[in-house]
Amino acid sequence: MSRLPIYDIEDALLDALKTHTRLIIQAPTGSGKSTQVPQMLLTNGVLGDGEAVVLQPRRIAARMLGSRVAEELGTGLGEIVGYQVRFEKAVSPRTRIRYVTEGILLRRMIDDPLLRGVKALVFDEFHERHLYGDISLAQAVQLQRTRRPDLVIIVMSATLDTAALEPYLDPCHVLTSEGRTFPVDISYRDTRSRPSDPPVWELAADTLGRAIRQGAEGDALVFMPGAFEIHKTIQAIERLDEARGAVVLPLHGELNPRDQDAAVSRYDRRKIIVATNVAETSITIDGVRIVIDSGLARIPDYDPNRGINTLLIEKISRASSDQRAGRAGRTAPGHCYRLWSEPEHRERPLQETPEVRRLDLAETALMLKAAGFADLSLFPWLEAPDATTLERAETLLRDLGAADHNGVITETGRRMLAFPAHPRYARMLLAAETYGCVYQACLIAALTQGRDLLVRRTGKDSRDRRDDVLGDAAWSDFLILMRAWSFASRNQFRLDACKRMGIHAQAARQADAVFRQFLTIAERENLTVTERAADDDAVRKCILAGFSDHVARRIDKGTLRCEVVHNRRGDLSRDSVVQDADLIVAAEIHEIEGRSVNTVLSLATAIEAEWLADLYPEDMNTAVHVEYDPSSKRVQAEEQLRFRDLVLTRKRLDTPPADEAAMILAREVEAGRLTLKQWNHGVDQFIARLNFLSRTCPELELSPIDGDDRLHLIAQVCHGAAGYKDIKDRPVQPVIDAWLSSAQRHTLDTHAPERLALPGGRKAKLTYPPDGDPYISQRIQELYGLTETPRIAMKRCPVLIHVLAPNMREVQITADLKRFWQEHYPRIKQELQRRYPKHEWKDLNGTAPT
Ligand code: ADP
Ligand code: MG
Repeated sequence: MSRLPIYDIEDALLDALKTHTRLIIQAPTGSGKSTQVPQMLLTNGVLGDGEAVVLQPRRIAARMLGSRVAEELGTGLGEIVGYQVRFEKAVSPRTRIRYVTEGILLRRMIDDPLLRGVKALVFDEFHERHLYGDISLAQAVQLQRTRRPDLVIIVMSATLDTAALEPYLDPCHVLTSEGRTFPVDISYRDTRSRPSDPPVWELAADTLGRAIRQGAEGDALVFMPGAFEIHKTIQAIERLDEARGAVVLPLHGELNPRDQDAAVSRYDRRKIIVATNVAETSITIDGVRIVIDSGLARIPDYDPNRGINTLLIEKISRASSDQRAGRAGRTAPGHCYRLWSEPEHRERPLQETPEVRRLDLAETALMLKAAGFADLSLFPWLEAPDATTLERAETLLRDLGAADHNGVITETGRRMLAFPAHPRYARMLLAAETYGCVYQACLIAALTQGRDLLVRRTGKDSRDRRDDVLGDAAWSDFLILMRAWSFASRNQFRLDACKRMGIHAQAARQADAVFRQFLTIAERENLTVTERAADDDAVRKCILAGFSDHVARRIDKGTLRCEVVHNRRGDLSRDSVVQDADLIVAAEIHEIEGRSVNTVLSLATAIEAEWLADLYPEDMNTAVHVEYDPSSKRVQAEEQLRFRDLVLTRKRLDTPPADEAAMILAREVEAGRLTLKQWNHGVDQFIARLNFLSRTCPELELSPIDGDDRLHLIAQVCHGAAGYKDIKDRPVQPVIDAWLSSAQRHTLDTHAPERLALPGGRKAKLTYPPDGDPYISQRIQELYGLTETPRIAMKRCPVLIHVLAPNMREVQITADLKRFWQEHYPRIKQELQRRYPKHEWKDLNGTAPT
């Protein structure tokens, strides 16, 4: 074997480890990162007597790397070198290099937060930015900062994009190796994709045939999204004349180890490998010079309808397709054929969105909570998820009873962790064990995960046959699906039998596979998985346990409208068999966008209100709901029994709670929509006087009546009333009078009097504007004898004087009466005397008239 390029940086790596505990290694695929770096750590003594745990995004890569490195070191797999993936491991106490999948490390960190015995953590394929990779790196950095400063963290990537990573890992050392690559000639399809195109496996086989006819040499690697497409592709290739004599082999995670190894072995003939994206960067296949790329991958994505992550076939990014193309140029110049057109290529995203920005976080959140992070927004994310995504995860965990209201994991939550499944299904399996329906729960879980089992638009014949076999009335849509699935299963998922019944054979077969997975998960946790009849109620309660965040109540009998917990609304699907139930739980909530967004609840199961009270005592609450009805001008109240925020029952109350009713009426009064007849000018003036005095002479310690106090005073007036009729004539004065003690009242009358004595014995009414200074309005004749501006509020405030003509028209406003007499009065007198000769017009000689 020629020396692998990664050895060019071995010395630099060992040097860097003398000063740094965090490294980034960038080197192209095939350089030797995954197989050689852990060996370098081992043979150079970096590991001491600890082990290196190498994190892999894929099970198949963990196993294949483990066995490859064991072979290179000349030991058996599971001795010095081992691997550990979910449900499968080959390790021993002597293991020093352990290839693991992402979930394994996270669980190990929960079980042993100190990671005893681990000297180095190697995060491989980090450019893929899997959620668990992000999370466990964050945890590792945290651990290294606190209790394990000796821990070595190495992040490895096939691409150079480490912009976000470097500052995150600071201080860290970056090692780059160029590797060796040969040019790859890339060609595209001439035409854009059309619905009438042949299936992708036929396109791939045709393209391969053409490439070989044109003289392309070497082994070929065909990328397909999944096992099904790989199987179809192999069949199509085996029909090609051009491929006669070649070995055609699949490579994907569902194969047994022997078949997986067969794909990377050498043959004396042309080898054609049809693989999923495991061959993109995880597993190197030597000798490949032809790459055929379907441009598709089956990747996990969030399905909002079911509120879980599912595998969806999606178009890969330009970065991914470049990686795939690169596989043709490892050992010699090569060709890559893309099964999409160049214009379509330009429309593809540059890079995949990291999972943390894309996936549902409920399962991750549960693990992080188990690791002690109650508030996930405080977790040291490499890239933080959307706040709404986090909130959704938090809410779901609370609804499932996995976390309490402070976000802290509960006992139920800890038990749920044992099941490697979305928390919904973990919760369902736990409930199923209690109710004795694990078999049914596994089937239901499987039925919610795949495509629709029943053909929607089917002929009348098959519909009738279907109704005969499956029945049409039931307590759950699942019951129909379970019967349909059983029918398909009894008929070995045969296409003809299924078709006659309007059942998707393929969907039923896929559900079967998922069903087996759930049974395995349940069995490993020692649940009772044998098939046995279960009580209907048990199964329904179990569905409720998994989907309690989808509980809905029918609003009325005449329509399909429902109110759903968390303030949502939707219509029960017309196809649902559960048409008579008042209360349901819907496994799917679809948003259908038409002229407006329409929410449809499907896969419904009827439930009983008592169950909610039994199962979720803490989520039940009774509350009196009070509201104002503008048309009757009355406050109405009802007692509501609620599950979380969903109202289950309402009872009208004859008298609303007095305090709340008074407050609601007071708000209506304050907003001017209702008027208290007795709330007159005098009341407003009392408040204005009080506020003026308290503003001007704070030391008198009179409490003003501000906006809030005003509202409360009005509420006092309204107390005990339920409608406008009761309050409109209510006396107001007594409530206002009670605001001050009699001593305070005396103070108020003294320093902010209602009236002001004038020289002639008359009393002038003082007006107190809400915010300005008080004033009197008087005719000139009434002011004779008043030489100086009167002052109130402990003489701090001059009273403004609005001087009126005999016809009561204002001629002057003054705060300085002395000056008025001197400067303005002579002119005013001259003017007015002519018009009002009968009035008295005193003379003044430099002084005020007396
Ligand atoms: P990298 O991680 O940098 O992509 P690897 O360490 O996986 O590189 O692989 C380095 C080289 O080791 C590959 O080019 C290949 O020649 C060889 N190799 C790795 N795994 C196997 C295997 N299972 N069988 C045969 N050869 C392998
Ligand atoms: Mg690798």
